[in-house]
Amino acid sequence: MLFHPEPQAPSEDSMSIVQEFWASAPKALPLKLESLLAVWLLNCFEHSEEPVGFSTFFLPAFISHDCRPNCMWHYEGDSFILRARRDISVGEEITVSYLAEESLLESITSRRSQLEATKHFICNCSSCSSSLDPVRGFKCLGCQEGEIFFEFDDRIRPSTEGACRQCGFLATSSQAEELVAQEAKVEEYIQQWDRKEGSAAAYLTEATTERARWNGPCTSVIDPLARMYLLHVSYSL
Ligand SMILES: [Zn+2]
Ligand SMILES: [Zn+2]
Repeated sequence: MLFHPEPQAPSEDSMSIVQEFWASAPKALPLKLESLLAVWLLNCFEHSEEPVGFSTFFLPAFISHDCRPNCMWHYEGDSFILRARRDISVGEEITVSYLAEESLLESITSRRSQLEATKHFICNCSSCSSSLDPVRGFKCLGCQEGEIFFEFDDRIRPSTEGACRQCGFLATSSQAEELVAQEAKVEEYIQQWDRKEGSAAAYLTEATTERARWNGPCTSVIDPLARMYLLHVSYSL
């Protein structure tokens, strides 16, 4: 069978489905149904939004995930079409993304937690296994132009590999911690904006007022982000 966790006991839902359709079913059937549902859930592809629909294809279900996949897929009618998104060497494994395209731009931590929650595995693709997260750069505190990167495991660690390529600036541990705290603040802003959708014009003003008070190294990203956000909101409203 395709990838799935081995269920230990049938859920209440599986038991009620079996009860509803086959009251005198063999005892093992709810567990079998649970197992089949797990296979389906972990190997299906999104098909439609309204109504929400999913589809399963046998061979595509064997394609592994990679956060920098060499292929992408789409539908033509109900057919599953696989296309290369870069040159693929002979013998190289075909990979697609199990995450939405925009999620591939998120940090390793974020991608891993999404995949663990929805697909039950820890991603160990080459992007996720690299010690520095290339999508989690911070503005260089030295030249203010380049980017610096940190290693993240159980804590944040500045490393020479992540030093600014323009001026060679290497942050201290406390500077790294400060930048990550600022990053959390930016993330909090974005979540607040999401919650306040509907009064879009207030976002930029609020962000600017807060920025004057806060004055941290990440503040320069708040205004452009707020503008991008306003643009996004006005397109989608
Ligand atoms: Zn990955
Ligand atoms: Zn620099």
